Amino acid sequence: MEGFRYFMPADTFFGRGCIEAHKDAMKPLGKRAMIVTGRNSAKKNGAQKDITDALDALGITWVLFDKIGENPDLETVVRAAAFAQKEDIDFFIGIGGGSPMDASKAISVLTANPQKGEEALFDGASAALPVVAVPTTAGTGSEVTQFSIITLHEKRTKTSIAPKIFATVSYLDPKYMDTLSPQVTNNTAVDALTHLIESYLSASANVISRKIAEIGLSIFKDCMPALKSGEYTSDIRDYLMLASAIGGVAIAQTGTSLPHGLGYFLTYEKHLPHGMANGVLTQAYLEEFPAGDIHVAKILEILGMADTAALGTFLREVLDHTETYTEEDIAYYTERAMEVPQKLATFPYPLTKKEIQRIYEKSLL
Ligand code: NAP
Ligand code: FE
Repeated sequence: MEGFRYFMPADTFFGRGCIEAHKDAMKPLGKRAMIVTGRNSAKKNGAQKDITDALDALGITWVLFDKIGENPDLETVVRAAAFAQKEDIDFFIGIGGGSPMDASKAISVLTANPQKGEEALFDGASAALPVVAVPTTAGTGSEVTQFSIITLHEKRTKTSIAPKIFATVSYLDPKYMDTLSPQVTNNTAVDALTHLIESYLSASANVISRKIAEIGLSIFKDCMPALKSGEYTSDIRDYLMLASAIGGVAIAQTGTSLPHGLGYFLTYEKHLPHGMANGVLTQAYLEEFPAGDIHVAKILEILGMADTAALGTFLREVLDHTETYTEEDIAYYTERAMEVPQKLATFPYPLTKKEIQRIYEKSLL
């Protein structure tokens, strides 16, 4: 067996009411916090109030930055960090989907390195202040990954910041998902599914990451009928949040692969939600593996799918993808994807521009 490394340091609490029950975990992190959220959802789903109640009870003062948009951009995190520096913040609490959780990691790096400016995000050695993560979607797994994905308008794409920032504490309470729309539920669930699949198939997969992904895939399988029917019971919400976190633990070991790398351009250029962008590319990605690949076969077996076409049908059923594309779009995305060789290298077989173009064509035309 090949050697491997396993590292996932986030102190993770799962369960309804877990913030109130385990608020003491935030006590050692400092005396003043910045809460980082999107514009609305954290107020509506109760997560922001649970956090502020906990901070008030602990005697930790706080400020709020509630202007994180979807796929947060560099400008927004720089603005939030300027605010944090004035407020003498000790730690950050990202509440929301992947966008606010990722933003809180980037803001933390910028705040800890005022002398470096934006460069701190592209310098792997930059330190950060502690981050607490409270997911309110079940998709990104950012609460247990070291990744923070930021939109760079200058480059017309998204990129992972260089410093690797795990949350110090994560609170996973599925009740916050009761307010999620069916569309966001399904898009984010497909993000979790693609994390599990891409991690499992990555050239960086190891024995532990694969076993973890297998568990996540089998939990995801039990959620598939609900994603199709739109009937999300509280058990289903629990399982989706668990599958998402397990997907996060898996990609924390391996990173993501082609659907993520290729999907960033669909999100930037056509505003496809992140999970949908990955999902529309997944069937064609799987079909680039040699027929009979044992790992692809194992994924299909766990998901109870006869073949990649059946998985593609499921994805089309649960995603509301109506965007149209031209051959020029595909030529542009293909060129851009070739600029990210480290992502292409996660594919365990030889890969050229021809295969990348074929994935886009089969998925989008
Ligand atoms: P998101 O962009 O965080 O949120 C999508 C939408 O859902 C927003 O409008 C948000 O509203 C709303 N929302 C969030 N929670 C809700 C709730 N409980 N009830 C109702 N509405 C809710 O979506 P996401 O898919 O979770 O995150 C995507 C981002 O994560 C992308 O930037 C992606 O690249 C990144 N990502 C990161 C990792 C990682 O490992 N770090 C992995 C995969 C993806 P508000 O704006 O009002 O909150
Ligand atoms: Fe993702």
